[in-house]
Amino acid sequence: MSERFPGVWWYCDHCNASLDEQPGFDDHYDTWTCRECGYRNTISEEDIWPGDRP
Ligand SMILES: [Zn+2]
Repeated sequence: MSERFPGVWWYCDHCNASLDEQPGFDDHYDTWTCRECGYRNTISEEDIWPGDRP
């Protein structure tokens, strides 16, 4: 499956863990609960920081 946001790296807003490396993560989800800290991150265009773009 292709990525919804190609090349974008996702990080937890709470603990800064790399969400891309967590099992089951897919950027097609609207939200993702961090497996490290349990924080629910939203996955949307508005949540991409300038530095996270390719
Ligand atoms: Zn986290």
